[in-house]
Amino acid sequence: MGQSFSIQFLGTGTSQGIPVIGCECDVCKSVNPKNRRLRTSAIIHTPRLTILIDAGPDLRQQLLGLSDLPEALLITHAHQDHIAGMDDLRPVIFLQGNDSFPVFCNQTTADRVRQMYPYAFVENPYPGAPKFALNIISQSVFHVKDELVIPIFGSHAGMEVLGFRVGPIVYITDMNCISDDELEKAKGAEIMVINALRKEKHHSHFNVDEAIDIGRKSGVPQVYFTHISHHLDHDICLPPGFFMAYDGLKISV
Ligand SMILES: [Zn+2]
Ligand SMILES: [Zn+2]
Ligand SMILES: [Zn+2]
Repeated sequence: MGQSFSIQFLGTGTSQGIPVIGCECDVCKSVNPKNRRLRTSAIIHTPRLTILIDAGPDLRQQLLGLSDLPEALLITHAHQDHIAGMDDLRPVIFLQGNDSFPVFCNQTTADRVRQMYPYAFVENPYPGAPKFALNIISQSVFHVKDELVIPIFGSHAGMEVLGFRVGPIVYITDMNCISDDELEKAKGAEIMVINALRKEKHHSHFNVDEAIDIGRKSGVPQVYFTHISHHLDHDICLPPGFFMAYDGLKISV
């Protein structure tokens, strides 16, 4: 596939963002820019398309200065740190001709998006309101325009969370449970992104050891951690093939 797919991390932080407001810990006070983490989001470029995964509260800042703006949004799940910034897609929608912006998510997320942004779905919307075309993901593959995407189903303290495989890239965040069958969908990929919150166990997120186990089981040669809390310094030691992602990191495959 040559240099035709890439992923750019727009944010790699857990729900509060890093630094955490008011926190005096070493990571929050760190001068290493890689320890500053906006809310988790990424852009995948394919030969055909630019796809945004998740639209959290930092989205405006994350899209400023990007040369390729997203043409579609995939949403992993309906927590605020993944959907609270959708209104900031308005300038993108206007630039792209004011058509409804394609959004792909499960039914629960679609219901939540309608609740959060009712003004986007009324019959006669206020001029300037965002327009979203919600597409419900229920099958084993779907198309975003011409690009084939494989949803990977997992969960996060009982709530369904979707991961996505786009070409050689697998993107998983906010899971603490994934079956072997679903992980099988990562087979043969070249890059896997997975959430790793901290070293200690957590009730709704993989910790570092669990993320390493999942990464190894998948067989994907390069694994990047995201959705990282302030309990994890960028400079921790990881086994070969495992890396801490950071905001702005771009990897081509
Ligand atoms: Zn999250
Ligand atoms: Zn802190
Ligand atoms: Zn979540």
